[in-house]
Amino acid sequence: MALLKVLKVPDPRLKLKAHPVEKVDADIQRLMDDMLETMYHDKGCGLAATQVGIQKRIVVIDFADERTPKPLLMANPEIVWYSDRREAFTEGCLSVPNQWTSIVRASSVKFQYLDRHNKRQELTVDGILGACIQHEIDHLNGVLFIDHLSSLKRNLLLRRAIKLKED
Ligand SMILES: [Zn+2]
Repeated sequence: MALLKVLKVPDPRLKLKAHPVEKVDADIQRLMDDMLETMYHDKGCGLAATQVGIQKRIVVIDFADERTPKPLLMANPEIVWYSDRREAFTEGCLSVPNQWTSIVRASSVKFQYLDRHNKRQELTVDGILGACIQHEIDHLNGVLFIDHLSSLKRNLLLRRAIKLKED
């Protein structure tokens, strides 16, 4: 396994849209394992391939939640249902260093993905894990959690994150 470099704002590659993978083969499994090692190393609980400069629809998540496989390794994750009910959770992101803020999202979601063995899976989750799935799938579409904020608040957090990176 190998550690990958996590891109930080304002890297323009964070805005790119990732492409579906055809199948979870040995190369994709290796990428999933490297992403997981990188996520543990940087003390995150979710990482999208977009964040390591690879435009493939791959997400890894590890969360203290008994209802889902741990870790959750996903190719082509896609949300197929959003609850009408919405809920706010405090979110942070390895690509926006040391900034945390409350984001309102659907409070539960149903999603499908290919697992590490190329098998199609479907899960329905709520709570912070549901927020995390939405956050990571946003990355695959070039969207950061701060893009859900007003431009005033977004720019404030962006400036702080970029300043931290330069210090
Ligand atoms: Zn993130």
